[in-house]
Amino acid sequence: MVSRIKTSTFELISLSPRMASAVELEGPLHSDMLLLIALSLIAMFLPYLLFVIYKLRRSRKQLRLSEKRLKSTVEGSGDTLWDWDITTGEVIRINDKYTSDSKTLTGFPPNKRLIHPHDLAKVEHLLKKHFAEQSAFFEASYRIKDTLGNWHWVLDRGKIIEKDNNLNPTRMAGTVRDISLLKSTEARLNLFAKCVESLTDAIAIYDKNFVLVDVNPSFLTLFGGSREQYLNKPFSLAGYEERFVDKVKLAASKNQHFQQEVKLRNTERVLLPIELTIDEIKNEQQHVTNYVVVYSNLSERKKAQAQLHNLSNRDRTTSLPNRNLFFTDLQKLVKEKEHHALLVFDLDNFKKINDSLGHQLGDSLLAKLAMRLNKLTRDNDTFYRLGGDEFALVMSDTNDIHVITRMAKQFLAAIATPFKMAGHELVITSSVGIVLYPEDGHTPESLLKNADTAMYHAKKKGNSYLFFNDTMNRQAVKRLQIENLMRFGLKENHFEVYYQPKMNIRTGKLTGMEALVRFITPKKGIISPGVFIPIAEETGQIIEIGEVVLNKACKDVKQWIDDGLFSGRVAVNLSAKQFSLPDLTSRIDVILQKNALPSYFLELEITEGTVMDDPQDAISIMRSLSARGIHLAMDDFGTGYSSLAYLKQFPLNTLKVDKAFIDDMTTERGRNMVDSIVTIAHNLDLHVVAEGVEQGEQVNILKQLKCETVQGYYYSKPLSKDEFTEFLVQQQNKSAPSLISASKIVV
Ligand code: C2E
Ligand code: CA
Ligand code: CA
Repeated sequence: MVSRIKTSTFELISLSPRMASAVELEGPLHSDMLLLIALSLIAMFLPYLLFVIYKLRRSRKQLRLSEKRLKSTVEGSGDTLWDWDITTGEVIRINDKYTSDSKTLTGFPPNKRLIHPHDLAKVEHLLKKHFAEQSAFFEASYRIKDTLGNWHWVLDRGKIIEKDNNLNPTRMAGTVRDISLLKSTEARLNLFAKCVESLTDAIAIYDKNFVLVDVNPSFLTLFGGSREQYLNKPFSLAGYEERFVDKVKLAASKNQHFQQEVKLRNTERVLLPIELTIDEIKNEQQHVTNYVVVYSNLSERKKAQAQLHNLSNRDRTTSLPNRNLFFTDLQKLVKEKEHHALLVFDLDNFKKINDSLGHQLGDSLLAKLAMRLNKLTRDNDTFYRLGGDEFALVMSDTNDIHVITRMAKQFLAAIATPFKMAGHELVITSSVGIVLYPEDGHTPESLLKNADTAMYHAKKKGNSYLFFNDTMNRQAVKRLQIENLMRFGLKENHFEVYYQPKMNIRTGKLTGMEALVRFITPKKGIISPGVFIPIAEETGQIIEIGEVVLNKACKDVKQWIDDGLFSGRVAVNLSAKQFSLPDLTSRIDVILQKNALPSYFLELEITEGTVMDDPQDAISIMRSLSARGIHLAMDDFGTGYSSLAYLKQFPLNTLKVDKAFIDDMTTERGRNMVDSIVTIAHNLDLHVVAEGVEQGEQVNILKQLKCETVQGYYYSKPLSKDEFTEFLVQQQNKSAPSLISASKIVV
């Protein structure tokens, strides 16, 4: 650049009109005296003169040609050439498009009046610097006004080319180039750079090999860390496998574009929802040079969406899911054909409360009630406010009448518990309508309608629940009746204990017996344990019933021991509820002491389900029982899901093979099964009792399989206390197994 400027400056100077005129010949000499000499000299030098003239003319012609050529070159380049005589202020310009008359060219710099006021100071400063020999060249970019008054960005470059004896600059020359186009490109680039810098979206620029070139400040704000730690690193997605990253890169290069929602971790390990967009950048030759990756943080958008979702799906007063969500959820359950129960209720006297105490208090009552009831729900339940004082509970994954009715009762009890608010004690009641899917309807609308109908009927009874389906209602009623009967029966001593003998298979002699509860009601007769025990388990009444059985069994056994009729163990069934009582052992101790029965005479039967609920806890409870000398039997073995690993750890004495296996023993497979169970038990040093043995053939097989003890109708049905006393007496008299006539037995 510098050398080009030098050359053009030089040529400009040597070719300027002033310079050109300086080389023209002066006029002839006018002295007579000299004329002769001259003529003779001319004659003498004429050939030489003619040669000089010829040379000069040729040189002028060449100069003009050069000048013309240069002019056209200058014109072609679009640059303006200038030559400034600093002492006179005269400026010669070639190809000038900014100056219309020479008067405008005055001042320092000479084109001062054309320079944009904002740029003038800068130009003056740079020019002064050059004059003070602080810069080798004068170079300034500024805006200049053209003859039409339009502003142009120019790059003005020049150099002092002559100085006087005092070394003051006398001449300077240079070029002016229009850089408007360049300037706007640069401005655009600056603008783009600024945009990228200030964009809230995080941006990273990668090279064509997906190696990071640069990131914008938002990138660092979003992901944390410093720019340096990312630079020159290959493209990655924090938390994603290499395989996924490769897939993304491939997709971006194949389709020139890629967009997907991803979850990326920042340096603080916070997971951010990000919309990832990748675009490729190509050069003029259509070769990919870079990839621009934009990471749009969706956190706020997601939050807003969630808020919007909440706004349209949650009730503001109670924070419960609303009617909208109720139908959405129910629709989903129906579509997936998932069994569920829907309980609907409203509050009987809520309007009165609202009217007398005001809506605000009414609202806070609803909120308190919602909180109270929501606490009662299971993991699979969702509690909704349908509107006003109307609520719904969806119990998914169940159609168990016990579970459902228990929940309805708990709800009714919780609603009826008085609320203390603003100095008032508010008592509200309600009635619950219940439907089951798919039995009572196939659409959310029909289910809700039928639940409302059931609720309407329940209201007539007041503070109660009702199923839409009558069979259910009958069952629920029956359940309620049994519950009431049990309550009454416990008070009135309607629970009796029957005993079923356990016989030694080899000797046919009695080794022990199982105590089995019998519920004998004066009006309804005998209620089977299969019917009332599950309800008693649900209501918790089994604890009291269990104690009655244990107490009676201890008392009876003590009597038989004292009478010299019996010296074995009585097995008493222990329910899961009893087993999990924190004071179980002390309760048992109390009963044993009360009846003066040593623990040696007691065995407890526990089912697999009971111990496998929390095996570790079960082990410690069983240990404390076993430490007292109480024997432990695993009841209904094979019907649950005992793990052999645990079986080894349980301090058991006996394993009871369930009746289902004994029934199946006539088949080869069934026989093998019992064989395996007996082998396992023996390997674990356990005594084996076969339950529900009804036929002699079963006894024979069990004998072969080395089962020691048998219990079942083959020997005896469960017997009342008196019958069992008789059985014991018979046992003492006979050595052979005795069969008790079924007609005498109440079961
Ligand atoms: P379980 O503990 O398996 O009791 C054995 C059941 O099988 C008894 O039914 C008994 O009468 C019956 N059984 C015995 N031998 C035969 C037979 O050869 N053929 C047939 N078909 N059945 C036979 P039960 O007395 O109706 O009792 C049913 C269940 O109720 C018991 O099963 C037990 O789980 C529970 N249970 C009975 N009494 C009590 C009790 O006092 N407390 C607790 N928690 N549960 C009890
Ligand atoms: Ca049992
Ligand atoms: Ca059993």
